[in-house]
Amino acid sequence: MKRVIGKIDPSDKNVSIWGAGFSGLILGYYLKSEGYKVTIYEKANKVGGKIQTKKVDGGFIEKGPNALYLNADGLELLKELKLEPVPATKKLKRLLMINGKPKRPFQMGLLSRLGVNVYKKPPLITDGLTVSEFFRPLLGQENVNRFISPVLSGVYAAPSEQLHFRTIFDQVGTKAQYESYFDFIKHMLKVQKAQPKLEVSGSVSFEGGMQTLINRLADVMKNDIKLNYREPFKLKHNTIVCTDAMSASEMLTPVKPEMARELSRIRYTELTSVTVFLKREIRPLNKSFGVLIPHDTGFNAFGILNNKAIFPLNNENLLSYTLISKKKLTEEDIISDLRQLFPEIGKEDIDHTENNHWDRALPLYDLQRYLAVKKLHQISLKEDHLALFGNYAAGISLREMITAAKNFAKDPQNYPETT
Ligand SMILES: Cc1cc2nc3c(=O)[nH]c(=O)nc-3n(C[C@H](O)[C@H](O)[C@H](O)COP(=O)(O)OP(=O)(O)OC[C@H]3O[C@@H](n4cnc5c(N)ncnc54)[C@H](O)[C@@H]3O)c2cc1C
Repeated sequence: MKRVIGKIDPSDKNVSIWGAGFSGLILGYYLKSEGYKVTIYEKANKVGGKIQTKKVDGGFIEKGPNALYLNADGLELLKELKLEPVPATKKLKRLLMINGKPKRPFQMGLLSRLGVNVYKKPPLITDGLTVSEFFRPLLGQENVNRFISPVLSGVYAAPSEQLHFRTIFDQVGTKAQYESYFDFIKHMLKVQKAQPKLEVSGSVSFEGGMQTLINRLADVMKNDIKLNYREPFKLKHNTIVCTDAMSASEMLTPVKPEMARELSRIRYTELTSVTVFLKREIRPLNKSFGVLIPHDTGFNAFGILNNKAIFPLNNENLLSYTLISKKKLTEEDIISDLRQLFPEIGKEDIDHTENNHWDRALPLYDLQRYLAVKKLHQISLKEDHLALFGNYAAGISLREMITAAKNFAKDPQNYPETT
């Protein structure tokens, strides 16, 4: 159920969008392409929301997303926008911190090494099932914490005990149970294989970083965006709220209290991303995407990205690494993490750091969010000219939002089935 919530009336071509983050811009773009006259109201003095690139000597700092993972809709969008993608380096090692060292767990036949029985029957897939509960009978809690949680944290910034199974593995659809874990793995691989082959695939950025994508979308709609807009929210015919759920709740409280109540149930995680410019390489991260770090291993960050290895063209003269953490990081925290990875690093090796904190970085993809969104879909059945969009509704990634926005713009009355 990763889609826009609600619908608009296609016979009225005037649409008001609130919020010019990626969700507002991409929905505005597709609606405009379908012949709507869009006005986007943004309270900040710039567009892009979480997508912000800062140019520094010889490279870029991404304060939010560093890449768009392409699907067919994403690739078509880039063609329409005449944007040349800069692909991430292929075949980089994906490392996980195991026993104090970054290692390649998924290359070494993880399941057979752990001696697990893949023919075991997994639990029933109920509405309340968490990712941790699904994998626990197969791997045991300790291995879920060591292998599953860090990988999912890299996307959702939340441990697998909190993540809602049906949402995270939405490829399972409405299936209630698999005969074995082997069947589940087989199904996931089949879904992956069925994806169309694209001429450019994987993660991409742009010359100028992710900001280039935002600037191009904003350029297409330059006469339709009102920045620094501080007037109180007005519910007009054909309004789409594209802010985070908490702001949407505040805006809708006076006019749609039932919706506002559900939106207020959606919780957010805070995140810090610190980009560090070093004078020397972190050798254990050579030729790798970076490393994911399980909780309780003495690190402050849960992931460290090797920016130069991922996008060499955008980081020509810089050795830059981005630490992603739940809490705010001090200089000591940063040094401590770098030294745990590579003890030869000292304070003198740091050229400079860029520390960025988001209070409401990502919505928590837990059961509470799932139930709130489900209820919002039900409430919206009574609405025919109000919709809600954003990364709490249509998937956390930019790629999912592109597909959801495109589908909605094509047929904004085709209301989704609620399960
Ligand atoms: C550190 C980090 C790394 C990430 N990495 C990736 C990645 O590599 N790849 C990927 O696909 N995704 C990534 N994501 C996720 C992705 O960036 C977000 O899901 C997406 O950018 C969110 O877009 P949005 O429009 O839903 O929300 P936002 O970006 O939060 O935009 C909401 C907008 O609404 C505006 N607004 C709020 N209240 C009002 C109001 N009352 N009136 C008018 N305007 C208002 C805000 O100012 C803002 O501009 C990452 C996220 C973070 C935080």
